[in-house]
Amino acid sequence: MSWVFVRPDAVRVWRDPEVNRRLSWYKAVMLDEAQAKFLIAKSVPSGVGRPGDLSERELWDLHKSLREDFEKRWEEAKRGRRFKPVENSFLDVKIELAKRLLGPPCRLCERRCPVDRRQRWGACLVDAKAYVHSAFLHLGEEAPLVPSGTIFYGGCPFKCVFCQNWDISQVRPRDAPAFDPPSLARLQARLRAEGARNVNHVGGDPIPSAHVIIESFKYLDVNVPQLWNSNMYMTEELLELLLDLIDIWLPDLKYWSDQCAWRLSAVRNYRSVVTRNILRAAQKGDMIIRHLVMPNHLECDTFPILEWIAENLKDRVLVNIMEQYRPEHLVLKHPERWPDIARPVSWEEVKKAREYATKLGIVWEPVS
Ligand code: SF4
Repeated sequence: MSWVFVRPDAVRVWRDPEVNRRLSWYKAVMLDEAQAKFLIAKSVPSGVGRPGDLSERELWDLHKSLREDFEKRWEEAKRGRRFKPVENSFLDVKIELAKRLLGPPCRLCERRCPVDRRQRWGACLVDAKAYVHSAFLHLGEEAPLVPSGTIFYGGCPFKCVFCQNWDISQVRPRDAPAFDPPSLARLQARLRAEGARNVNHVGGDPIPSAHVIIESFKYLDVNVPQLWNSNMYMTEELLELLLDLIDIWLPDLKYWSDQCAWRLSAVRNYRSVVTRNILRAAQKGDMIIRHLVMPNHLECDTFPILEWIAENLKDRVLVNIMEQYRPEHLVLKHPERWPDIARPVSWEEVKKAREYATKLGIVWEPVS
């Protein structure tokens, strides 16, 4: 018998009616009262024996039509109906499309690097394999999620100068073991058996490893909610593949200003890409939005982000206003280059952010 420590607030949080309403699908899967979406996707017959023979256009058309069947089944699954997997399914179409996104150019994230990921790596520093640096029951995530079966993948499309996980996100994964889809499925099953409420795909960022994660579902028959913990800089194409597989989203909404995103994370078009993806994902799954309050960035980023959430998603998502910013990585080495973020965030700044969220009617407290 194994024992899992359960944080008291991880139990208490479910007494909140808004948490229950906003995370109702995730909760049903977590308690095994409904099948995870990836299991439903495996039950939708594709009608195609070898999706690899189809052109990419034909695959997307097929994907579109199969989603209609998936959506009907998902509605029935919400009422407790269970489905059996079939040989050639909607998931197989997704697996084939995810492989095509490897390029050239790679179309997993909006950097769209001009590389064939099967031959070499792109800006994320990951080739066609999924490198897992660690995997364990994480007790430090938001209360509704813990213990969370967290898998840390190497690589990231972002180059954040303050990254706290720079040792796995900003270096070529040399020592981390490469996981193929069956071994990744076994890892997920093991985490669930150890008491995980969910499988939490994170990193770095899971986007560069998405094709392996998607294929791992072919070998996973354990019912467990799938959680996507990400900067959400994926392409629309990848998001379309993930929408029918991910039960709960944990997007990190960092910036409102594209200038801040470029200066601190070296990404272009941050706001339009990430808000587009968050809006779309929130239509198709439960969501907790994370926002890390950074020193001196209330006016340019925090306040407008909270206003955007209040305007677009206030009644549908939970929000975690995070207070743990501290200078790390390049900011620690060269504080003079980024003087605005070269100190920890102050309690006064976090308080202002939380007060503003409350004023806007955003539900943030139950998950902090
Ligand atoms: S996932 Fe990596 S290789 Fe692909 S476009 Fe993004 S940064 Fe480039």
